[in-house]
Amino acid sequence: MEVLYKSTRSDSAPVTASQAILKGLSDDGGLFVPQQIPALDKSPEELAEMSYQEVAYEVMKLLLTDFTEEELKNCINNAYDAKFDTEEIAPLVEAEGAYYLELFHGSTIAFKDMALSILPHLMITSARKNHMDKEIVILTATSGDTGKAALAGFAGVEGTRIIVFYPKNGVSPIQEKQMVTQKGDNTLVVGIHGNFDDAQTGVKQIFSDKELAAEMAEKGFQFSSANSINIGRLVPQICYYVYAYAKLLKEEKIASGEAVNVVVPTGNFGNILAAFYAKNMGLPIAKLICASNDNKVLYDFFSTGTYDRNREFMLTTSPSMDILISSNLERLIYRIAGNDADKNKALMTALNGQGRYEISYDMKQQLNDFYGNYATEDETADIIRSIYNDCGYVIDTHTAVAAAVYEKYKAETKDDTKTVIASTASPFKFTRSVMNAIDTKYDAMGDFELVDELSKLANVKVPGAIEEIRTAPVLHDKQCEVDEMKQVVRDFLNM
Ligand SMILES: *Cc1c(COP(=O)(O)O)cnc(C)c1O
Repeated sequence: MEVLYKSTRSDSAPVTASQAILKGLSDDGGLFVPQQIPALDKSPEELAEMSYQEVAYEVMKLLLTDFTEEELKNCINNAYDAKFDTEEIAPLVEAEGAYYLELFHGSTIAFKDMALSILPHLMITSARKNHMDKEIVILTATSGDTGKAALAGFAGVEGTRIIVFYPKNGVSPIQEKQMVTQKGDNTLVVGIHGNFDDAQTGVKQIFSDKELAAEMAEKGFQFSSANSINIGRLVPQICYYVYAYAKLLKEEKIASGEAVNVVVPTGNFGNILAAFYAKNMGLPIAKLICASNDNKVLYDFFSTGTYDRNREFMLTTSPSMDILISSNLERLIYRIAGNDADKNKALMTALNGQGRYEISYDMKQQLNDFYGNYATEDETADIIRSIYNDCGYVIDTHTAVAAAVYEKYKAETKDDTKTVIASTASPFKFTRSVMNAIDTKYDAMGDFELVDELSKLANVKVPGAIEEIRTAPVLHDKQCEVDEMKQVVRDFLNM
């Protein structure tokens, strides 16, 4: 069955998967969604016998239908290789009555690697398939983790350039150091004077600037996106939910057909949307538990049916979730609006204009698969400390938001369904916040002293990604105002 992709904002002609990956965002500003979601054609028992790479193929072949088997397998094998520090790629760790799906074993130690290690290969393959003769310019806004993962993926890839905008004062010290030490002539990293939403909005504006696009085309460039608005990032993220389920089955932690809950620390709504798609493909998932930090716009949305970004933007210890405009929610809104592009567009126009929208009663009824809650800064720190004290397992601040919300969910519902928690970053990426949560005595130590201390305390070797940046020279020190982003892009492309 061929799967085509259409925009959430108009009924313009659908495109193939490879075209959707190349474009990133639809010309009308909408996001590409699959016209139908195919069912898994292998049973969980069959999947349980497969490697990560094999499971990834079984999932991706159903959604990226214009890729040949050889193309897809090449992409998969080039992505999920020795860049990951474990052959399992995404190990499951049982702790405190839940299964932590560790998605941070790739080269930049955050879950973004799961998709961004394959996206460059999907993109280059897509370019070839569509006989594209232009250089691809990847434009990315990051709340800290996408930036480095995208840089690592695209650095040195022929036929591409990559520009990353991050909030200058909105990422962790380790995150910033990882990005500004990036090598590669085709890379540019810029700190903006604004928050993540400013960066994301700026990037979306550049994308939909028709004049600029025409000028770019003339000069031989075409924009694409490495953000989770690109379907080429969402599809690879579905794979690990399928893999986790198959693994639980293989290890006899669950019975055949038994449903599990999934808890996802959420920012842009990409990761949890991938879990929702997995459920739609037939994976036995019960509740999708959406965990937010103090920027709890999604919690409010799930409880009231009103999405309202008119509120203070909070800087938290889980910076990759400091987001008030969750882009991927649009794909869910479109879906619960009955795949009605006009209805969705009206809501998104309201979000752009008034910063809020309200969904209808009928739409809200379709959100029963989801449960939303949030964790405060204190609750986040408390759960890091208590899990460490109880069993010696150290989780990062984002994963801790999910763990804290899962506790609230259990207390509220008494639901004892087995549960997978998406563990989205290594604690080494947020060392200061993690160590402070465990004991305030660490406050006085330097960033890399803390790294060594964490290694001792958690009994985990310092990841290569951290060793790499200890002494690496800073190669990017550019900063700009939000309204200068377009000029920065022009300068980098000599336009
Ligand atoms: C990006 C990120 C998130 C949020 O994921 P979304 O797909 O944007 O919802 C959570 N945790 C970490 C560590 C991240 O890097």
